[in-house]
Amino acid sequence: MENYHYTAVDRFLRYVQIDTQSDPQSATNPSTEKQKDLSRVLVQELLDMGIADAEMDEWGYVYATVPANTDKPNVPTICFCSHVDTSPDVTGAGVKPIIHERWNGTDISLPDDPSQQIRVADHPDLSHQLGNDIITASGTTLLGADNKAGLAEIMDAAQYLLTHPDVKHGRIRLLFTPDEEVGRGTEKVDMQKLGADFGYTIDGEALGTLEDETFSADAVKITIQGVSTHPGFAKGKLENALKIAADLLATLPKNALSPETTESKEGFVHPTRMEGNQDKAVLEFIIRDFTETGLQEKETYLQNQLNEVMTYYPGSSAQFVVKEQYRNMKDVLDQYPAVVENALEAIRRSGLSAQRRSIRGGTDGSRLSFMGLPCPNIFAGEHAFHSRQEWVSVQDMQKAVSVIVNVAQVWEERS
Ligand SMILES: [Zn+2]
Repeated sequence: MENYHYTAVDRFLRYVQIDTQSDPQSATNPSTEKQKDLSRVLVQELLDMGIADAEMDEWGYVYATVPANTDKPNVPTICFCSHVDTSPDVTGAGVKPIIHERWNGTDISLPDDPSQQIRVADHPDLSHQLGNDIITASGTTLLGADNKAGLAEIMDAAQYLLTHPDVKHGRIRLLFTPDEEVGRGTEKVDMQKLGADFGYTIDGEALGTLEDETFSADAVKITIQGVSTHPGFAKGKLENALKIAADLLATLPKNALSPETTESKEGFVHPTRMEGNQDKAVLEFIIRDFTETGLQEKETYLQNQLNEVMTYYPGSSAQFVVKEQYRNMKDVLDQYPAVVENALEAIRRSGLSAQRRSIRGGTDGSRLSFMGLPCPNIFAGEHAFHSRQEWVSVQDMQKAVSVIVNVAQVWEERS
């Protein structure tokens, strides 16, 4: 691909200027209508490339096909997937992307907010980027490389495949989803219509990495019914639901079992939301672990803490409801080793050292894997997600394009 003119960066700069922030409090699909603004642009660009079946459905999902150009009859259909939305944590309105050309190793200042400094000390992956062109936002917004870098890379790879008939590949399906950041990215995916055998999300971090393992995840909702009375006549009667909730949180360990005290393969119990009054309080938690057993242990632990606290409030009651969120994709991927093997080979063919990693989180691929589409995550080059210091390099994006093309080719060769 030496003489190829990459369109990934041009596309990326266009996509990040379209605000596609999703909203966890919304019940609609997509959670925010503005996500469709980008989906529509993607469909138009796909049509312009000559992909006649490119379409956006009523939920904002984009589907498109790069037709097979191989004579081999048994090449599986491979899907490449990225999400159009950006994180609800930081605004994505009015993103002003800046290219810091031939970065020289010094800390990067963001012009619209002097307090926002991308320091090499805080971003160790920057040390591999000397001489590269780094793209950042201007200091007041996120950049949206998560996951618009992936979108741009898939789009460029599609264009490359369409204009290079010598590169043989099977049928390729492209899938762009809304609402990944609010955990609903696969809610309205039509697997029948997608019609793919194996997939890859292009939503990972460092150059050369492939993630084939995610958290297993549940949510727990605890509803506490206290005993409410007029505070002036409450002696011996009132059981304040807010204090019961606070007691429960106070029992959680200060030096373990939390996101702020764990790393690598350790799981956690994490309160994410609390609301209520003296009569009734609701606490929401997320529970994370890499194994099913670990997940259940943590839920039992939380349930026991709750039971213990409730013994001090005999007139009150509590409800403990577990909701499954997603499961570790490795359980599925282990049954289809070629999915990971072919991607690692594709990464190596792009001149990179391939590294397998696990993610302390989930991806659309975790859910897709359990919906019948085994789907690990390939790097997109995005860094410092969900922050105003988010960055990506032009060179890493180009490598990701090359990896996507190679994945298509390796599947054809090995089928
Ligand atoms: Zn993402």
